[in-house]
Amino acid sequence: MPSLKTTRDNFSKAAIQALRDRAGNLCSQPSCQSPTIGADQSTTDGVTLIGVAAHIKAASPGGPRYDPHQSQAERGSVKNGIWLCSNCATLVDKSGGANFSVTTLNQWKFDAEKNSSDQLLFRNSRIRPDWLHRIHYAQYINVPRLSTILNIADSMKNLGLDSTKGFRGLGMQIAPVSGHLEASIATSSIKAIPIHDLMPPSDEIIGETISFDQRCYTKNGVDAGTTVAPSLLANFDPNKSPHFYFKISKIKIIFPYDPAWVTTSTAYCDFRSGSASFAGLGVVKRIDIKENQVFVSPVIVALPRNEFMQSWYGSR
Ligand SMILES: [Zn+2]
Repeated sequence: MPSLKTTRDNFSKAAIQALRDRAGNLCSQPSCQSPTIGADQSTTDGVTLIGVAAHIKAASPGGPRYDPHQSQAERGSVKNGIWLCSNCATLVDKSGGANFSVTTLNQWKFDAEKNSSDQLLFRNSRIRPDWLHRIHYAQYINVPRLSTILNIADSMKNLGLDSTKGFRGLGMQIAPVSGHLEASIATSSIKAIPIHDLMPPSDEIIGETISFDQRCYTKNGVDAGTTVAPSLLANFDPNKSPHFYFKISKIKIIFPYDPAWVTTSTAYCDFRSGSASFAGLGVVKRIDIKENQVFVSPVIVALPRNEFMQSWYGSR
């Protein structure tokens, strides 16, 4: 068989270092994220490196995801690389790369680099809120959003939830379903940054999962049976859209919510009461610096269990 002469467009040393550093020296595979460097304890100055600068589109013809239209320079550029641990690098190239598309690898890379950048910006401010395991009664659970955060895409279907009807579609099934969700939340490892730590706000915080635990003002709450026009949910109107808010000095933190995901009739009352103590998690959606407003999409709004409630209701 004639030998086919192939050339590999390998990464330069500088490109490898850039890929490694931009990934924060962690594997970019989202469910791995393993450290790729550590001390070699058999020496006093050595390191063990298990990371690999892997090609997104293969370095040579016939390789996984090879793209003949790429130039040599493109093939060996930082843009065409992803930092992975050696296990994951082997995995993505199995079966000629058929299981892992260019789009998937680029998404992993983007998320890993955002993560390393966030670590610098917000250091170790991401914590699991200490009330998460004490949730006493969840007044609001945005299930589609929660499913994304917890990585449980099937839960909506399994729980019989229809995203247009929310909890309203469940009838008598609400209690077991919200109980199940509360239990998933209680045992989850969701991490968030306390919203106070992100003040004053900047565009960098858009997309961040935040936590809050405090007295809030409620506005435009509706009765359990009322549906709210989608336009009021899509375009915030301070006089019509259901929302709650609080202020951190001059900044107003506004949480517009979809009443379909309010859990019970007692919860509907809480949202219409004018003010209520809420603890919860949300995702920062939008910032209006001029108006001193931060818009947060709530994921969970709950009463955290505390000593008083425990003696009052007993532990549930
Ligand atoms: Zn890995």
